[in-house]
Amino acid sequence: VTGLPLHVDIPGYAVENNTLLVGGRPITDIVGDADPPCYVYDSALIRRRIEELRRDLPERLELHYAIKANPMEEVVQLIAPLVDGLDVASGRELEIALRTQTPVTEISFAGPGKRDAELEQAVRAGITVNVESPGELRRLQLAADAAGRRARVAIRVNPNFELKGSGMRMSGGPKPFGIDAEVVPAVIAGLEPGLAELVGLHIFAGSQNLNAEALMEAQSLTVQLAIDLARAIDQPLTFVNIGGGFGIPYFKGDRRLDVPRVGVHLERLLDTARDALPQTRFVTELGRYIVGEAGVYACRVIDRKVSRGQTFLVTNGGMHHHLAASGNFGQVIRKDYPCLIGTRVGGPDLEEVAIVGPLCTPLDIIAAKLTVPVGTDVGDIVVVFQSGAYGLTSSPAAFLSHPAACELVV
Ligand SMILES: *Cc1c(COP(=O)(O)O)cnc(C)c1O
Repeated sequence: VTGLPLHVDIPGYAVENNTLLVGGRPITDIVGDADPPCYVYDSALIRRRIEELRRDLPERLELHYAIKANPMEEVVQLIAPLVDGLDVASGRELEIALRTQTPVTEISFAGPGKRDAELEQAVRAGITVNVESPGELRRLQLAADAAGRRARVAIRVNPNFELKGSGMRMSGGPKPFGIDAEVVPAVIAGLEPGLAELVGLHIFAGSQNLNAEALMEAQSLTVQLAIDLARAIDQPLTFVNIGGGFGIPYFKGDRRLDVPRVGVHLERLLDTARDALPQTRFVTELGRYIVGEAGVYACRVIDRKVSRGQTFLVTNGGMHHHLAASGNFGQVIRKDYPCLIGTRVGGPDLEEVAIVGPLCTPLDIIAAKLTVPVGTDVGDIVVVFQSGAYGLTSSPAAFLSHPAACELVV
């Protein structure tokens, strides 16, 4: 237990003189005179999380970082040497990945709606393209022809099962992601060997899952599907990307994912796959789990008001920087992210307030109900935890034309 007054237990943060420390430094020093709002990412926590994953997951399971969770250059540069590969979802993310030392063979590009220019960029760079449809494969082969180079292709498979209990389901039934499992063999049979080289399969079932049981079930189905497809296509596979979907706790009642348990299951699963896929490398791709807990978002109280008995703290930051914390990114019923007052962590007397941002919309809520020390007022710093993933770049930054948030790595 960290001792922080949060509704979920988040390791790695401390308090000194009633002020929150991030990376061992007071939040007030970190944001200093730079007018928050600011995202602060703790490099030691990112490193520690990757070390734990290496310890808990099978040694032969390769670990990729999905850049879209947090594409800040400094964060990606920090993570790249600690993982085995990078997954990108756009041409811009590909440029970020190419500026790291990661070998191009360990960079893959997934996502529906890749433009011709992005496909050509990918072929020229020599990275792997995870193809999402037969049409995209045709366009990729045209790009390969134009570039005079063979494309490295992985087929993104839309499996015939779902990842149960996932925050965002990305598989099963009709989906924009991947090629339906039942037509994958026909699509692979149609590859032009001079233009495209099949290197693997990519099966990503869902995101933000805290349920080890559900993840393990999906992993078993994923590996079995890869084995079945490999048999049907009768071609060797260099790698199978089994997805990820490891979640972090955000809301009251969320329990941490039991990663060691998932790791034991994966060890057994990969052992049983050895007979059918002896040459195949297995990859897991994680975004949120690597960076999510290592980041906080800090903004300042600029007004305190009481409306018909309810106290509001109005801040200079909100959903334009942090859509997810406002509850408008993937939540069905809005719940508060873990928050506290970084300049006044605890106190003998407490009161209940609502914390809202500066936008002219009732959607701009940071905390609908937060217990804070009495006296919290203008100038205090509100800190939102679990903000290292899907924060700044997942938010409508241009809405209302307020100043941009800064990002710092400590
Ligand atoms: C978004 C995404 C990820 C990362 O998901 P997290 O929940 O952040 O771990 C991995 N793979 C694919 C294909 C994705 O679209």
